[in-house]
Amino acid sequence: MQDLAITVNNFSKSYGAKRAVDGISFDVRQGEIFGLLGPNGAGKTTTLECLEGLRRADGGALSILGVDPGRQAGRLAALIGVQLQTSALPASMTPVEALRFFAAYHGQPPALSLIDRLGLGEKRNAQYGSLSVGQQRRLALALAAAHRPKVLFLDEPTAGLDVAARAELHALIGELRAEGATVVLATHDMAEAEKLADRVAILLRGKIAACGTPRELTATGAGQTKVSARTENAALAESLPPMPGAVRALVEDEYAVYFTTDTGATVAAVLQTIGECGDKLVDLRVERPSLEERFLEITQREPGRVA
Ligand code: ATP
Repeated sequence: MQDLAITVNNFSKSYGAKRAVDGISFDVRQGEIFGLLGPNGAGKTTTLECLEGLRRADGGALSILGVDPGRQAGRLAALIGVQLQTSALPASMTPVEALRFFAAYHGQPPALSLIDRLGLGEKRNAQYGSLSVGQQRRLALALAAAHRPKVLFLDEPTAGLDVAARAELHALIGELRAEGATVVLATHDMAEAEKLADRVAILLRGKIAACGTPRELTATGAGQTKVSARTENAALAESLPPMPGAVRALVEDEYAVYFTTDTGATVAAVLQTIGECGDKLVDLRVERPSLEERFLEITQREPGRVA
């Protein structure tokens, strides 16, 4: 299909007797940010490395914009950008030197403007070893993006960054996508995936345990929304009367908390009950299950069950 940037069809890869990836299939659309999630050892890096042409698949078919990454390394290099781990550059290299070096490798003029755009202007001639982790990660993103690749592979792009640096890098990744790049993002950070990714695949023991938009995935789990109500006279918290749709109720910090599969019915009944008791609502919170909760639900299921 024309709008697909990446197709992965029944792909598998073993290391000796260890089957790291076991016949997975997924597509990534052009212009999409696609999250690859999974616990340690799930097969994320193996999948990325095969897509990046660093390893050969044992079985199945991989394609990046029509190029087979295992067989067409020359054509692949122009299409993809790979974010390096922060330890990958010599400590004495400067950001300008690194950008020139990478651009030369890709046969492109160095896009030195990226250094300013990624907030490294003051550090353009500083030694790599003297940069903070956040600056090193920004440089890694600049080097991956400098030849304007159509597909970007990012592996834990914000690991170890503080909140502000993370938000900045997220904005930059969003900008690169807005300029047309397709992004594959492997991350352990569920909030990052939920915020950035259009769709995610959760890998578990070499198989895809779930795939869809973060909203779809959180909606297909136990799917319970948390409805919490605090009232002036604690009428609900004291008696926790049953509510339609609610499957569990508890008291948490003066809030009556209901876990519900029917948010509308529960909220309506909560408000009605408060009124009938002559109490007054002080605060009402409705929280959707997070991707992290859904991830734990999927990855902590009993071994062998992947659905
Ligand atoms: P992490 O989140 O820890 O980086 P991952 O999801 O990226 O994990 P992989 O690194 O792809 O997982 O590893 C998948 C499986 O393959 C693991 O069981 C791992 O031990 C094994 N493995 C990975 N690389 C090799 C290798 N070079 N030789 C042997 N086994 C390997």
